[in-house]
Amino acid sequence: MVDYSKFFSEYVRSIKASDIRELLKIVEKGNVISLAGGLPDPRSFPKDEIAKIAREVIERFGEKALQYSPTRGVSYFLEAVKNFSIRHGVAVNEGDGIITTVGSQQALYLLGRAFLDPGDYVVTEEPTYLGALQAFRGIGVRYLTVPIDEDGMRTDKLEEVLKKAKSEGLRLKMIYTVPTCHNPAGTTLPMDRRRHLLELAEEYDLIVVEDDPYSFIAFEERDVKPLKTLDRSGRVIYLSTVSKILAPGLRLGWAIGPDPLISRMELVKQEIDLHTSTLSQYIAAEAMNRGVIDRHIPFIKRLYREKRDAMLAALEEYMPEGIKWTKPIGGLFVWVWLPEGVNSRKLLEKAIEKGVVFVPGDPFYPSGGGENTMRLNFSYPSPEEIREGVRRIAEAIREYQG
Ligand SMILES: *Cc1c(COP(=O)(O)O)cnc(C)c1O
Repeated sequence: MVDYSKFFSEYVRSIKASDIRELLKIVEKGNVISLAGGLPDPRSFPKDEIAKIAREVIERFGEKALQYSPTRGVSYFLEAVKNFSIRHGVAVNEGDGIITTVGSQQALYLLGRAFLDPGDYVVTEEPTYLGALQAFRGIGVRYLTVPIDEDGMRTDKLEEVLKKAKSEGLRLKMIYTVPTCHNPAGTTLPMDRRRHLLELAEEYDLIVVEDDPYSFIAFEERDVKPLKTLDRSGRVIYLSTVSKILAPGLRLGWAIGPDPLISRMELVKQEIDLHTSTLSQYIAAEAMNRGVIDRHIPFIKRLYREKRDAMLAALEEYMPEGIKWTKPIGGLFVWVWLPEGVNSRKLLEKAIEKGVVFVPGDPFYPSGGGENTMRLNFSYPSPEEIREGVRRIAEAIREYQG
């Protein structure tokens, strides 16, 4: 018998499997309603159009689309991303570069490797996106977290956090934020707070990473502009992806920002995978250029709005007093604050008995806390499952509270 564990590197030993993932394996077995996932509704994938484009791309551009391509990305795709971004209000400035990545997840990883050293501090919302925490984990960064309310990051608190960090001489580099349709919180930052955040980034000389997979499919209008568009000093790196507007399986994202920063990300990417799938880039470029994505967006918005409405109505109807939740205008999640003292992991055990699962909120708090919070997904389950799932969670809460 070979003892495989002796071959494991220090690095891989330091990675621990998420205990929540383990818990969620239960779902795959039984007759359990899951409000725990984070998957888009497969009905949001324009399958026929993608099939047609894939065939035509291979027939027409096969020699290029199946070949190795530049680390930065296929210029045909980079141009399509630029036009798509500008069309949707995301500024691409003189001096900006764009890089294609294997989903936004890789962009986060590249950012970490290119700009963060062990012991550097990253400022995030509390709660924040788990994918970002995972991408930065191996570097040994530390976090300063800023509480949110129904409108997202409290920039008054951000100011306090930055002031304190500076007085303590902490090595601050980056604000990582999901300003629009936050994952996991479902919040959207209003314009005045966006301006305030950028002023603070200037004052404290930080780079801002704006992770924006959702603004294209926000199903309610809000008068907000991307931080990238409001940025006057060239310190925002904007990330987006086809994962929520076309298909996550294409594994295709991009980062737009000042070229000196983007070119450092490119250096890291070259070491990892040479380049992003050429074929995925050609398919997505065609989907953008032919207007497939733009024409499909209203359908995705309707789909998710209906489910969001089902979830908010069920919460309103079933939840006991003393519970608060966000009212997202887009994205995939509603965030719930349970009364102080209710532990959502313990609640989850009860919920599983009742045949429903959600994600407890504490893993989204990199500096601890959040034990009385949870994340509910509305994109994947049907409206009927959402209703019944929320009803069961409410029942579990009542029992928990005795
Ligand atoms: C879904 C999501 C992404 C998308 O990641 P990909 O790697 O592009 O699939 C990025 N950031 C946030 C906050 C998300 O919710």
